[in-house]
Amino acid sequence: MNQPSSQPTSDSTTADAVLLDRIDLDYRQGRTSTPALRDVTIRIKAGQTLALLGPSGSGKSTALKVLAGFLQPTAGRVYLDGRDVTDLPPARRGIGVVVQSYALFPHLRVDDNVAFGLRARRLPKDVIIERVAEALGQVGMSEYGRRLPRELSGGQQQRVAIARALAIRPKVLLLDEPLAALDIHLRQGMLAELQRLRANLPDTAILFVTHDQAEALALADQIGVMRAGRLVDPADTDELWHRPPSRFTASFLGGANLIPVTIAATPDESSAVVKVAEAKFVADRAVDWSPGAPAVLAVRPHALRLTSSLDGPDVLPAKVTSAQWRGPATRVTIAVDALPDLLVEIDEPGVIQHQVGDRVGVHIPPHSGVLVPADRPEPDSTTPSGASSGAGTQAGARAGAAVSAVRTAPAPLENTP
Ligand code: ADP
Ligand code: MG
Repeated sequence: MNQPSSQPTSDSTTADAVLLDRIDLDYRQGRTSTPALRDVTIRIKAGQTLALLGPSGSGKSTALKVLAGFLQPTAGRVYLDGRDVTDLPPARRGIGVVVQSYALFPHLRVDDNVAFGLRARRLPKDVIIERVAEALGQVGMSEYGRRLPRELSGGQQQRVAIARALAIRPKVLLLDEPLAALDIHLRQGMLAELQRLRANLPDTAILFVTHDQAEALALADQIGVMRAGRLVDPADTDELWHRPPSRFTASFLGGANLIPVTIAATPDESSAVVKVAEAKFVADRAVDWSPGAPAVLAVRPHALRLTSSLDGPDVLPAKVTSAQWRGPATRVTIAVDALPDLLVEIDEPGVIQHQVGDRVGVHIPPHSGVLVPADRPEPDSTTPSGASSGAGTQAGARAGAAVSAVRTAPAPLENTP
């Protein structure tokens, strides 16, 4: 194997614990070739957690496997701490990997499972014993070393899988949907444990793959949204939540309603008046929104209000099409008279107050949503674009005018049922 020698293309890579640099990956089977990643660039600094968030089939696991070394990219390079590792096999990358299905060796006891990577590295016996104890302690499983995997619950098996990944003291930890196989109660507990674990690994870069936005919000410093093999909107978690730069991200993260609006006026440097049919709302304004321009107001279900009065300058008349009680809130779906193609979802606190067919008014409180560009090209798997580059994303983020109360919205987890 040749000693890798190529240099990353950007100068600012020295501080990146992980750099996937413009990765393409095609799955090849015989003569058929399926594109799974296109121009994906991912950076993670030591001590930081990046969540790859996206729908099933968007390429998240493929990206993780390229980083782990299980798949060789069709184009692009992989760097760890600035060193090109593209040609190194998985075992020589020093990366800990945890997958959804635990993948424990069924015939090996817990401590032998955890010791596996250490024995493969031919570490001395006393070091192995010490590291296994340390790793099991990190996940609260010290008492379970002599059990077989089948004698453990799903949550316990996943903890052992995490301990096995930690035992090699990796500088990079990869977690592929580690909570997906657990039932909902276990998931909550494990999420809290992952938060603790992360706090105890201040120098480890973590790539956390999930399709669940609540997990991404709870764990990640940055989120990269995957869509059809592309990384569309990499950004700090907080920024992405408050100012989603694209319609796709706005609807995927927080389930925002996407309401077409026009910019009616830009009275000063920091505000915009947006119009939906006859109703008008005031929004903060970011750069370069001209009056008359189409835009999309991304507004999350919890931020809208239903009123019994149907008129008023900031009320849209509508009709209830469904109401589902979900415990703390009722999800009401309404058809707005002025927007025949759109169903708007609203979370009303408490039990059902409106019946299907009721006439209601929708009040969009000032500062309750985010303006996103109406005409930003939505990347897909067939039309390459620069959407994964950092520069494009920054511009997109700046182009989104945040309606100001978004800043005072509750913490992200409180927003997600
Ligand atoms: P995700 O983890 O986001 O659900 P994956 O990375 O597993 O998505 O898959 C991305 C795309 O690549 C999907 O269209 C999937 O069907 C395809 N794919 C995954 N693994 C293989 C494989 N071994 N051979 C061919 N296609 C694959
Ligand atoms: Mg996957």
